[in-house]
Amino acid sequence: MALISILGGGESGVGAALLAKSKGFEVFLSDAGILKPTYQDTLRENQIEFETGGHTMDRILGSQEIIVSPGIPEKTDIVKAIKAKGISLVSEIEFASRYTKAKLVAITGSNGKTTTTLLTYHFLKSAGLKVGLAGNIGQSFAKQVMEDKHDIYVLEISSFQLDRCFEFKPDVAVLLNITPDHLDRYEYKFENYIASKFRIFQNADAHTSCIFWTDDEVITANLNQIPSSAAIKRVSFNGPADAYISSDKIQFDGAELLLADAPLKGPHNAINMSVAMLAAHEAGVSYAQILASLPFFENAPHRLESCGNWNGVEFINDSKATNVDAVYYALNSYQQPLILIMGGVDKGNEYKVLDPLVKEKVKGLICLGTDNEKLKHHFGSIVPQLFATDSLEDAVIKAKEWATNGDVVLLSPACASFDLFKNYEDRGDQFKNTVKRLIHG
Ligand code: ADP
Repeated sequence: MALISILGGGESGVGAALLAKSKGFEVFLSDAGILKPTYQDTLRENQIEFETGGHTMDRILGSQEIIVSPGIPEKTDIVKAIKAKGISLVSEIEFASRYTKAKLVAITGSNGKTTTTLLTYHFLKSAGLKVGLAGNIGQSFAKQVMEDKHDIYVLEISSFQLDRCFEFKPDVAVLLNITPDHLDRYEYKFENYIASKFRIFQNADAHTSCIFWTDDEVITANLNQIPSSAAIKRVSFNGPADAYISSDKIQFDGAELLLADAPLKGPHNAINMSVAMLAAHEAGVSYAQILASLPFFENAPHRLESCGNWNGVEFINDSKATNVDAVYYALNSYQQPLILIMGGVDKGNEYKVLDPLVKEKVKGLICLGTDNEKLKHHFGSIVPQLFATDSLEDAVIKAKEWATNGDVVLLSPACASFDLFKNYEDRGDQFKNTVKRLIHG
């Protein structure tokens, strides 16, 4: 029996192991760290061999193919050894897509993936389709493919998964935007990261709908990376497009959405809604059905999430804004004066692009976290008032002290959260709880 090894025992690795086993392979899962007890139980129940705390190189190098978790970089010894031996190295997405005939909608981009994936899923589900949600989100794609429950999947795909996709051919492929991110995984070369994102289109042909935001200069400068036969669908703020976003509406061929009626606010969400509506339409849902279900959409938390109003001051949790681009769009989403809470672990950020918006809108900046010095240095001379702390509670108290009726207090950090919090969800939850406590108590 041919051996398939899986590196990394998270949701995608365990799912891939189950699918591989069900297809008759001998399966070995190896994780350099620990495995959740529930995953261990699942593997044991299915007689899948696994190891933790390291990789048994000889065994793994005897595999016919290796499925590797997106979290494991190219530069690790094990990946280098696999590549040196020329063994096929694929992602869970690539592996699972071989075993399904379901339609696939795949969504990538530097920002907005989760929102757009959830929106597209919402449109398909509301239209009564048997739809699965997978990729970076929800249950493993491979596990759902094994259970064969769905006719169509909406997949949120990261660049790390795309790096190990070769034959993966979604029916609808979406590229939202490209701004520098994760460059440590791409030899600090932006062009490598761009090429990774364009792999979403690598097998596109006349039957593939390729949807992208055409005002993104990085995307338009690289359109030669999309096969010429692919069916292109464009989203734009500037003139004719398959989804044309003007100041008050989005126009499609045969439908329009008034932005005032939309559940998600801000120009970035106009892009996300345009893309998701086009994707759902390309997947077979009518615009009438899409528009009917849109008002019932609820976004995932921590993305411009309203979390309280106190004396006319609105508190917004945008903890998921872990890079500068996301903060740019958050600032653009409000007309009101802002008190901005930023900071955490800086990932080599260039804050300059924020300067005009900060000058125009931010009446007070609160720096929260390990890399406050850089923020103070950059913004100190352009904001009217600045406060730096490493206490979330002090940050909210200061915001409350500065804010007056009509202001917005916005947590949109531009940074990773690992200095003071477990992750961005923990940061957002603690912010919401602190706001509740301080405005009600
Ligand atoms: P991802 O899954 O790509 O991280 P999310 O939908 O979780 O994207 O949003 C992450 C952050 O990026 C949020 O702070 C959100 O406000 C911001 N954002 C969402 N959509 C876009 C977009 N199209 N362009 C830029 N920023 C966006």
